[in-house]
Amino acid sequence: MVYHLDEHDKRVIIRRFLELNPQLVEAKDKAGFHRSVRSHGTSWLEAARAVSDDYFDRPERLQQGGWVEQGEQTCPMCGEVIEGQLPTHLENECTAA
Ligand SMILES: [Zn+2]
Repeated sequence: MVYHLDEHDKRVIIRRFLELNPQLVEAKDKAGFHRSVRSHGTSWLEAARAVSDDYFDRPERLQQGGWVEQGEQTCPMCGEVIEGQLPTHLENECTAA
């Protein structure tokens, strides 16, 4: 399934995603989070930048990786536990989007 979200929707999704997956905020630095999001396009990166300051308030660390490697994550749209990256789930698998 292919669909398009505008940037406002993406911000809402990222906020829900981070709230549902606090372990990702604990484990990741903001730069790593942005790198992961950027691989899905600049519109996702812009949305992430707009909201991530509210969640990542620690100094950025030299830590590699992104949100995908953290194992189980919860989709903010359908509530399912997903193993891949959120944008990929939303574009291909999510039943609620
Ligand atoms: Zn979903």
